[in-house]
Amino acid sequence: MSFGGNVSEIQFATPQTVKEAVKCLAGAKGRAKVLAGGTDLLVQLRAGMVRPALIVDIKHIPELSAVKREDGGFRVGAAVSGAELGANKAFRKAWPGVLEGLELIGSTQIQGRASLGGNLCNGSPAADSVPGLIAAGATCKIAGPKGTREAKVEDVVAGPGKTTLKPGEFVVSFFLPKRPKHAGDAYLRMIPRTEMDIAVVGAAVSLEFDAKGVCTDARVSLGAVAPKALLVKAAGKALVGSKLDDDALEAMAAACRAACNPIDDKRGTIEYRTKVAGVLAKRAARIALERAQA
Ligand SMILES: Cc1cc2nc3c(=O)[nH]c(=O)nc-3n(C[C@H](O)[C@H](O)[C@H](O)COP(=O)(O)OP(=O)(O)OC[C@H]3O[C@@H](n4cnc5c(N)ncnc54)[C@H](O)[C@@H]3O)c2cc1C
Repeated sequence: MSFGGNVSEIQFATPQTVKEAVKCLAGAKGRAKVLAGGTDLLVQLRAGMVRPALIVDIKHIPELSAVKREDGGFRVGAAVSGAELGANKAFRKAWPGVLEGLELIGSTQIQGRASLGGNLCNGSPAADSVPGLIAAGATCKIAGPKGTREAKVEDVVAGPGKTTLKPGEFVVSFFLPKRPKHAGDAYLRMIPRTEMDIAVVGAAVSLEFDAKGVCTDARVSLGAVAPKALLVKAAGKALVGSKLDDDALEAMAAACRAACNPIDDKRGTIEYRTKVAGVLAKRAARIALERAQA
């Protein structure tokens, strides 16, 4: 494979533990890049968009590739691929909307490599798995030279291609909380073509209901309509206390439209993206409701 430069100048490390990985990243002479599935990083290397001094492959660290139950929820290693997570039946039952995002990424081949951690840390505003994680209220464990810390997923990306991770830090795993009995989530995206394209809008909704069918908690997240995926608190608020009647859904859609701050490009104008955000959020909410009732 050609990287369009002298690839022998790039050092490559394969740490076996989180501690070793932090040591490699923090001790790098020059820019260090984490490698998970490589479906973004290798493309960027070949295009000459990044030229790190060191690549740290995190896939040999057991914690990064594990899916475990924790406090009734799930702890998912940051390097777990979409294909691996999709094979976990308990996860699919609890968080189908999160998987919907991951399973829209690229093709079967890409999904065999693409990880949640890579999708988040690449920093694309259109990353398909990120709205589902934000709607799920997921947090991530971050390791660095000062030890480990937990952060909300919505706080990890700073803007296009940028994260809030400090030098030497990387994402170890994600935690998705326990699901109560009447709960459901869903993710929908709009792409201009039928295959392999970037979302013009992505919308994820996660809902919880009481035994009478009244919404007790709602989280709505939008992708591709702002410099980073958004948690639209006002949209969730519009649904809580309702049974997702038309008025509540329209109030939620209006809150989504108000939160949009999209780019205007060949894939979609500002007006189009803004309108579609409300439509997709409504549709995703109806699917999440059906799943909660199932
Ligand atoms: C053909 C094709 C189609 C695609 N289609 C889609 C699509 O439809 N939707 C979509 O959202 N994306 C798409 N992508 C982009 C890509 O597949 C995803 O973003 C994928 O989830 C990246 O994961 P990865 O494990 O391959 O990341 P990598 O390429 O290994 O890493 C991506 C970035 O994140 C950093 N990183 C990785 N893991 C960590 C970590 N644990 N901690 C800190 N930093 C980390 C890396 O240093 C790098 O900067 C597509 C890519 C290709 C090539």
